[in-house]
Amino acid sequence: LNQRRLKWVGDLLSREDLDGFLISSLENIRYLSGFTGSDGALLVTHRQKTLLVDSRYTTQARAEAKGYDVVQYIKKAQGITDAVISGHVKRLGFESQHMTHALYADLTTRLPRIQLVPLDDTIRTMRARKDPKEIGVLRRAIAIAEEALLSSLELIRPGNSEKEVAQEIEFAMRRLGAEGAAFETILAAGHRGALPHGKASESTLKTGDLVVIDFGACYNGYNSDQTCTVCLGDPKPKQRRVYSIVKEAHDRAISAIRPGKSFQEIDRVARQHIEEQGYGPWFGHGLGHGVGLAVHEEPRISFDSSGFVETGMVFTVEPGIYMPGWGGVRIEDMVLVRKGGCEILTNLDKELRVL
Ligand code: ZN
Ligand code: ZN
Repeated sequence: LNQRRLKWVGDLLSREDLDGFLISSLENIRYLSGFTGSDGALLVTHRQKTLLVDSRYTTQARAEAKGYDVVQYIKKAQGITDAVISGHVKRLGFESQHMTHALYADLTTRLPRIQLVPLDDTIRTMRARKDPKEIGVLRRAIAIAEEALLSSLELIRPGNSEKEVAQEIEFAMRRLGAEGAAFETILAAGHRGALPHGKASESTLKTGDLVVIDFGACYNGYNSDQTCTVCLGDPKPKQRRVYSIVKEAHDRAISAIRPGKSFQEIDRVARQHIEEQGYGPWFGHGLGHGVGLAVHEEPRISFDSSGFVETGMVFTVEPGIYMPGWGGVRIEDMVLVRKGGCEILTNLDKELRVL
């Protein structure tokens, strides 16, 4: 039972003058209770903590969610209704970004006298700062993904398809103990590298290609995320130049990270360098994002972010340049914010690797 996280919810109830908080996001349910099933709901009141699941998960929920009352439902809306009534809840907070409209409509019909209070994803905010145990799990997810990539390097050669390589990387992750890939591995060679999220295709690798490989493993529910861009054969001058611009933007952003800085400021450091070198229009996405139980979570590090860097946050730094018809370069690392700076959690060297 994680008292710190529960206290946070208790404080939220008091602050928002709520009798209960209904949590429907699976990641947030897992974060609070430890339950890893694929469906359910969590109701926290000042006095009770109830995990509602269907019959597939009753046994598992009792084993995983220590300290929670596990209640089995046949229909979720009915299960929630019963729990809300027995908990004497009048004002019920819910996650406005997660509850489906169907469930919302169902609950308002079943509970006409109860006030449903939409809350932003407040638990996501809490999740942005990782505790030492979470960091340990993240390190393991990173180590697995890195070993998987290194063991697949020999397959990254002309003639093999993007898909063949990506599948081998993902298979290696599982073999090394991952639950699976954190997301569908992005492996985009040559012109396809200009697609920031180019899924691995049947197209084959060619000598002279830059290959963008964005990969991560999921371990104990936690995800890793990093990108290496490699070159098949000797890089041409423009490939070297674009790579070094992205690398410099990446390095400068990482050196700028420290508690108290705004996310916008960190993004600007990288973006400014790319703009000064004349490639501004080809860097369209934000600089980075938090990683944890979700591959993309708080905080967002972008030109339109609000908020500030805090110790314990884990996020990516991933500038890129993508030019349609030419290709792309992205370099991505995960960092952990510490007092006075940050530690790079990912270990693979980010100098241009020539295969
Ligand atoms: Zn990535
Ligand atoms: Zn990322």
